[in-house]
Amino acid sequence: MANSRSRSAQSADGHAEGLLASAGVAAMSCPTLTIDLDLIVSNWRALDARSACGVETAAVVKADGYGTGAEHIVPALRRAGVRTFFVAVAAEGAAVRRAAGPDAEIHVFGGHMDGDAAEIANHALIPLLNSARQVRRHRGTLPGHPFGIQIDSGMNRLGMSCEDFTALRDIVDEEDIRLVVSHLACTDDAGNPLNSQQLATFHAITAGLRVRRSLAATGGILLGRDYHFDVTRPGIGLFGGDPFTDGTPVVTLDAPVIQTREIPTGGIVGYGAEWVARRPSRIATLAIGYADGLSRALGGRGASEVWAGDTRCPIVGRISMDLTTVDVTHVETLPDSLQILNRSQTIDDLAAVAGTIGYEILTGLGGRIRLRYFGG
Ligand SMILES: *Cc1c(COP(=O)(O)O)cnc(C)c1O
Repeated sequence: MANSRSRSAQSADGHAEGLLASAGVAAMSCPTLTIDLDLIVSNWRALDARSACGVETAAVVKADGYGTGAEHIVPALRRAGVRTFFVAVAAEGAAVRRAAGPDAEIHVFGGHMDGDAAEIANHALIPLLNSARQVRRHRGTLPGHPFGIQIDSGMNRLGMSCEDFTALRDIVDEEDIRLVVSHLACTDDAGNPLNSQQLATFHAITAGLRVRRSLAATGGILLGRDYHFDVTRPGIGLFGGDPFTDGTPVVTLDAPVIQTREIPTGGIVGYGAEWVARRPSRIATLAIGYADGLSRALGGRGASEVWAGDTRCPIVGRISMDLTTVDVTHVETLPDSLQILNRSQTIDDLAAVAGTIGYEILTGLGGRIRLRYFGG
């Protein structure tokens, strides 16, 4: 019915109308992640308010701003007063430099890898050097270019050892080091003794150093002022993710309904015929699947829910590459799209069902999902 009407409208109203109509259809065929820039800014302000004055609150925008689009969130954060940004690798630096402008500081956790010199120089990035080898590479290829140091204080993941750092202090001028960074392993567990052990180690390694220091990510900020030093580096907290439970979720994810069908009792839905209707059911098929980052673990037996307006609807059957099926039998007026993420169902809620963390849910969204921005 709707099809024949739009087809006749197209032929009656001519070419331009037809183009517009098809553009509209194309846009509506993909899921949409809506990102509220004002809420990202208010989460940053709330984290900033947790630390003493004199502590600078930076922003970690690696992985394209945790998947929310660094190009858009960086300018919003910049306007709110963020001056320092962190990315994971030098290749991420160009986009952040473009978005942040010439006066921002952009630090690179991965340091100076082989082949990074041009990127680091062209975009004025500050590599956080992680080994004696990186220090040699940096001083060899970009003498005089600013750098920071990342120290391993006990996580055993990234950063130079205490011995390497001590040796380094004999060969470089302290004034040349912009920032000394280390990272905490267990801040999701405030009572874990490793937190205070890493704090003590960081103090010991950096004792007497007149260089700015940074230890805390989101979880470290919440551990209190002892952990804040000169610069804090929240990432997930900007998006209202765990462990910043006082933050506000900033994204909604909507997926369009492609079609609905009525299924009799005993009818099956999806791959493996895993779901069987226990009553006559109406099933909506959504244009989103695991290729868009909707984890397959959210379907099948431990299925989660999506929202039709204010009504919860269970995902039924397995999530496939492009499609997700939902039981909407109890929904009176089905909207054009159903909501997967919102204030009532956050990235951490989905993570709990999928057996992962909110970080992975958020950064995993991609594929055909369109990003749309609100505020800023
Ligand atoms: C990702 C990362 C951060 C940010 O961590 P959140 O938990 O997202 O706040 C800070 N520092 C380092 C070294 C990181 O890798």
